[in-house]
Amino acid sequence: MTATIIDGTAVAEKVRAEVAERVAKRVDSGKSAPLLATVLVGNDRASASYVRSKHKACAEVGIETRGYQLSETATQSEVERLVSELNEAPDVSGILVQLPLPAHLHEHDILDLVSAEKDVDGLHPMNIGLLAMKDREPFHTACTPLGCIRLLEEYGAQIAGSHAVVVGRSNLVGSPVAQLLRNMDATVTVCHTHTQDLAEICRTADILVMAAGVGEMIEGNMVKLDAYVIDVGINDVWVDHPADTLYVSAETGDNFVAHRADESEKGGRRKQGVLQLSTEKAWFKADDAPEISKEDKISLFRKARMAGDVNFESVKHVASHITPVPGGVGPMTIAYLLVNTVNAAEILDAC
Ligand code: NAD
Repeated sequence: MTATIIDGTAVAEKVRAEVAERVAKRVDSGKSAPLLATVLVGNDRASASYVRSKHKACAEVGIETRGYQLSETATQSEVERLVSELNEAPDVSGILVQLPLPAHLHEHDILDLVSAEKDVDGLHPMNIGLLAMKDREPFHTACTPLGCIRLLEEYGAQIAGSHAVVVGRSNLVGSPVAQLLRNMDATVTVCHTHTQDLAEICRTADILVMAAGVGEMIEGNMVKLDAYVIDVGINDVWVDHPADTLYVSAETGDNFVAHRADESEKGGRRKQGVLQLSTEKAWFKADDAPEISKEDKISLFRKARMAGDVNFESVKHVASHITPVPGGVGPMTIAYLLVNTVNAAEILDAC
């Protein structure tokens, strides 16, 4: 038997269409389109790219966006002033502060300042607290957990009465997904790095949500027959390229440029990326790499593919439903940012 593959791309498409319809109805009735304000601090390229994708997704469903870019050296009070202004701006429905923030900023203080009504990432303590309370409703819940629940619902999972195991307890994913499942009458076990007998606990799960960020840690023999498996993890799998012996020169800026040994003398092909050195090897990744001398010979690890926390090939023979990575939970996260933004516009209408 092979599990049904949960198609997050298709469900996300459906969610986006629902949002587009809600936005169109608002505008037809004379109300303003929802507006998402994004706050990006610093020069992190991945963050800038995430913000661009969020703006694009908003545009596709008729949500307006306004991007605020602050410099890497922005002070705590500059960021806080901007967030306060956005809280007060009547045309701003939702505020998204792109994480991570540069290390000198106090993330908690900034996130706490976003008004709970405009907190479309669901990270304000009031929203997290309301989610945890019986008979209370948060203004917003984090997008990825909402996406996980929608996938379970779309594919007919019986949540009430089930035993759900959530591996991971972050504010962003593990804890809110556990709260949502609990609020839907599942019996929930939350596992983390100190959990004993993880495999044993996972084997008792009717619904297993993996949000640990550890590549392919769950094998088929750790999963109950016919379980629903939701894999939130996004992990890079790196493979060694022994043939790629490189000469490396440290350039200014945040990147290193690696030359193939046999081509560098001719000024030939260059590979650009961020390199990190261990004793003998290097791989494209972090920006805190130690100094590399021009003549250092290194070998290169290449990013081969993206993997979830679940070994898909092994688990698909045991589970009844499983999300792939990519194409499972990932597309749902942005889709639910759109849902939260249109919700935020409606919350503001009611104020
Ligand atoms: P995090 O690092 O903040 O939290 C990880 C949690 O997993 C922690 O609570 C930790 O205790 C637990 N954990 C780590 N290793 C474990 C182990 N070996 N056994 C048991 N528990 C373990 O990460 P996060 O922000 O919650 O994200 C989790 C994963 O989900 C990451 O891979 C992240 O990239 C991914 N993610 C995906 C999306 C998406 O849209 N698909 C969104 C957010 C996060």
